[in-house]
Amino acid sequence: MSVAFTPMETRLPLDPMLPQPAVIQAIQPEAAGISTFTLKFSDPAEAAAYRFQPGQFNMLYLPGFGEVAISLSSDPNEPGRLGHTIRYAGSVTRAIGRLKVGDVIGVRGPYGSAWPMEAGLGKNLVLVAGGIGLAPLRPVILAVLRERQAFQRVVLLYGARTPADLLYTAEFASWQEHGIEVHPTVDIGNESWRGLVGVVPQLFYRIRVDAKQTLVLTCGPEIMMRFVIYEALARRIAKDSIFVSMERNMKCAVGFCGHCQFGPSFICKQGPVLKFSALEPFFGREDF
Ligand SMILES: Cc1cc2nc3c(=O)[nH]c(=O)nc-3n(C[C@H](O)[C@H](O)[C@H](O)COP(=O)(O)OP(=O)(O)OC[C@H]3O[C@@H](n4cnc5c(N)ncnc54)[C@H](O)[C@@H]3O)c2cc1C
Repeated sequence: MSVAFTPMETRLPLDPMLPQPAVIQAIQPEAAGISTFTLKFSDPAEAAAYRFQPGQFNMLYLPGFGEVAISLSSDPNEPGRLGHTIRYAGSVTRAIGRLKVGDVIGVRGPYGSAWPMEAGLGKNLVLVAGGIGLAPLRPVILAVLRERQAFQRVVLLYGARTPADLLYTAEFASWQEHGIEVHPTVDIGNESWRGLVGVVPQLFYRIRVDAKQTLVLTCGPEIMMRFVIYEALARRIAKDSIFVSMERNMKCAVGFCGHCQFGPSFICKQGPVLKFSALEPFFGREDF
């Protein structure tokens, strides 16, 4: 079997605290209160040098409002066009939501750890996402599509509150054409929904996995990830083969400020993607 997967190099900015201007090239509404912003650095040299890996994030800066951590949701093989799928949650993200194509925003990054693309070569990948948790997993799917033969089965278990809250649905058919098994579910259906109704971890009952040959990559609400881990462990998937993307309130993104501390880890440096084996003593505890 060919294992031609080429890991993307990453690159840290020269001054990690200095945002670089980037122009909004496109705004794609995805669901109510969620859009994907495609950004391009104003400086051609910055645009040419920037690289990221699936799972990493940028800090987006809007003068007068502040900065927010937002995952890259676009194709790592097209690092000149940076996709960020943003939920309008609070003051900064709502202000970003009022911007238009052609407006400028500050970007610094990429930061954080990546999904284990190399460890996944020749293996099955089970991607498990809830809501906007699919955003940091989309670069995994797009990278897999480019080198599909480098991976075995690739399964997406994905859930949202309602059919209208499912992201990237227009892409599902093309993902499936490339042999990615897509299993969507919703908490509450509607009259036109013919798919599954139920919570994401239940989707494990629809697939059979070869535990030794499978990596699980999950991102979503912590309560969902807790049950995803439970289902994965019940199928004897090793703790070292389960990868979780953690979110914490983040300020500096470079390990200075400590806002995002989780147990012994700073999510901005050791995370956001962590092996469950490293998280286990702290995961699901309210005081972490
Ligand atoms: C590594 C990482 C990647 C992220 N990727 C994305 C992404 O791709 N798209 C996206 O929309 N958001 C993402 N987020 C979350 C985003 O950074 C926060 O929602 C951000 O605080 C929003 O800023 P705000 O000023 O608009 O809202 P705020 O006023 O900061 O917050 C609004 C509400 O959300 C709560 N909140 C803030 N941060 C978080 C968080 N991390 N998790 C849960 N609740 C939080 C606040 O307590 C408050 O109740 C990511 C966060 C991290 C740490």
